[in-house]
Amino acid sequence: DRAKGRGSNAVEYYKSNMIHYFHEHFQVENDLRRAIKNGEFSLAFQPQLSLITNQICGEEVLVRWHHPDNGTIPPDKFIMIAEETGLIVDIGEWVLREACIQKKQWIEKGLPTTPISVNLSLRQFLQHNIVEVISSILEETQLHPSLLKIEVTESVSINVTRTLEVLKQLISIGVKISLDDFGTGYSSLQYISQFPVHELKIDQSFVKNIGNRQNSEGIISLIIRLAHVMDLTVIAEGVETDEQRTYLENQGCDKVQGFLYSKPLISTEYEQFLKQINIQ
Ligand code: C2E
Ligand code: CA
Ligand code: CA
Ligand code: CA
Repeated sequence: DRAKGRGSNAVEYYKSNMIHYFHEHFQVENDLRRAIKNGEFSLAFQPQLSLITNQICGEEVLVRWHHPDNGTIPPDKFIMIAEETGLIVDIGEWVLREACIQKKQWIEKGLPTTPISVNLSLRQFLQHNIVEVISSILEETQLHPSLLKIEVTESVSINVTRTLEVLKQLISIGVKISLDDFGTGYSSLQYISQFPVHELKIDQSFVKNIGNRQNSEGIISLIIRLAHVMDLTVIAEGVETDEQRTYLENQGCDKVQGFLYSKPLISTEYEQFLKQINIQ
């Protein structure tokens, strides 16, 4: 009968989707292995602006994958698979090292001595030797540890004991910690009351709704006050409009990052950006 027919169609549909999913997943995994071998990754840099000094106060590093057939692939399309397969460990170590090398070069060229922020995924953070990996990269590149900021999300708190241990060790070697996508997880308040961090990063989903939703504005102003009560700095990401910037500034937000200032740039472009800003 018709209902049964529709049901089995649904199953067929589901099955073909799953096969498609597995096929694609497998394809991406193989491609990622080749990408690591062939060096198909690059870094993009997005400036962060201090609302207190009105100067560039750092930048975030974002990985890009230049696929030989499919062009540039954004991280949202491959980080999850890299995580699931463990390939993120190699990719992430490459990103960390390249970021530190680049930052050291810029400082030697006389560009501002501001920290560089690098995203660390859950898998990388829980890697048994993550602290050794980071300290040996700092040693190797001779970058001052205080110039490296690690961005982690609340997902790292899945393992409370280990998270606390890693954060304490990273802080003891002098690295800074930023809590990314703040407000989107289930345990934000628990997290900051338990774990040592230096900075909260307000998720762009809240910033997007400035001017549209009172809820988001309320949450933003609360996060800013919370950060200051806890003696943390607070940065908002995804800032695209003057209205958003003005709201954040009026609420006392310390720093902003977003397309309003610059999209993520390749290193040569970012260097030009820094030089121009410094002249002004
Ligand atoms: P994220 O850490 O939350 O990074 C912010 C994302 O927002 C970036 O996307 C950035 O390009 C984008 N963005 C910046 N300003 C604006 C804006 O004004 N408006 C809008 N709509 N978007 C803005 P991207 O580069 O595609 O990265 C996506 C995510 O991939 C990152 O989210 C991060 O979770 C992950 N990711 C990127 N690079 C790395 C990496 O090296 N390692 C790891 N583990 N994850 C990374
Ligand atoms: Ca981030
Ligand atoms: Ca974020
Ligand atoms: Ca995000």
